[in-house]
Amino acid sequence: MALVALEAVTKSYGETPALRDVTLRIEDGEVVTLLGPSGGGKTTLLRIMAGLEKPDFGTVTIGSEVVSDNRTLVHPRKRGVGMVFQDLGLWPHVTVEASVRLTAEANKVDVKIAGELIEMVGLGDKAMRYPHQLSGGEQQRLALARALAGEPEVLLLDEPLANLDAPLREDILAILSELHRRRPGMAIVAASHQQEEAIEFSSRLAILADGRIEQCAPAEDIFKEPASRLVAAFFRMGLLIPATPNCGRVKTPFGDLEVDADSGAQGWVLVRSEQLEPVPEGSQDNAASGIVQEKIFRGNVAGQPESLYRVKIGDIITRVPLSGEFQKGAGISLRVNGPVKFLEK
Ligand code: ADP
Repeated sequence: MALVALEAVTKSYGETPALRDVTLRIEDGEVVTLLGPSGGGKTTLLRIMAGLEKPDFGTVTIGSEVVSDNRTLVHPRKRGVGMVFQDLGLWPHVTVEASVRLTAEANKVDVKIAGELIEMVGLGDKAMRYPHQLSGGEQQRLALARALAGEPEVLLLDEPLANLDAPLREDILAILSELHRRRPGMAIVAASHQQEEAIEFSSRLAILADGRIEQCAPAEDIFKEPASRLVAAFFRMGLLIPATPNCGRVKTPFGDLEVDADSGAQGWVLVRSEQLEPVPEGSQDNAASGIVQEKIFRGNVAGQPESLYRVKIGDIITRVPLSGEFQKGAGISLRVNGPVKFLEK
């Protein structure tokens, strides 16, 4: 049985659809990150799991209890859910120690947990401080300790790493992985638009765009087999070209390419950035000519300086990692290596 199950969850705000028919199951111990463009529905989905928002249709089950359907709306505090949302909701006149302890008491959890959690989030020496005496990162850690004090089955985190600089993001990631070691059965559902941390931190990613789950799978599977054009575009996997496969081939500006679909309706082909290779101008085979628009330096990646080039080929603009130096405005011929991937939607 899934720990959290959403079945056909739909929600609109007036005329604006926020979630369309979302079905998602999260098992014990899973860390699932809702990832996708802003406005895609991530926060709404978290708020529905938390019980802060009622879906228009659909069912939410946590453990064996239906917590939300057309007749039921279980109160957020009665769902066994801990949450850290963007508005941390800290109590201004309550110290770190008291706010974690009171939360444990209110949930009938042994108050011994309060001290342990405060230590775990690194606030041991600040236990008698009030929220306004803490830095932004410390306030976030206090909110996390308080959310955990009720020993929730499910922890909901809205943008847990937003507004934190890199060392603080590392701190929170380290705390979350320690937490997972201590409470392996607890599920964590986070909303994020930061891909790198989400990939590192999650067992599965649920890609939400325009109120729909486009794909829900481990990050590696998503990179290997993106389910849709939106997923490939969100991760900037490469060039997306409208195309219709015919007997295992597609017509593109690079010529007639081999594709992983026999025949089908109109869709898109994904030419992955790493499939593109510069070749001498005038090469015929699977190549197209373009203009180098800009070099984009991306800092050191795995210890190596890395640059991408923005290249315009006909109407298409793409970012390509190229070895070698290319001047702005230079002509370039790019060849596609290997078969391309067809995406139906
Ligand atoms: P995300 O978290 O992915 O950025 P949201 O869940 O916040 O997305 O929003 C999904 C859609 O619902 C957006 O179009 C947003 O403008 C709309 N929306 C969210 N909350 C409200 C609200 N309280 N009132 C009106 N529209 C809302």
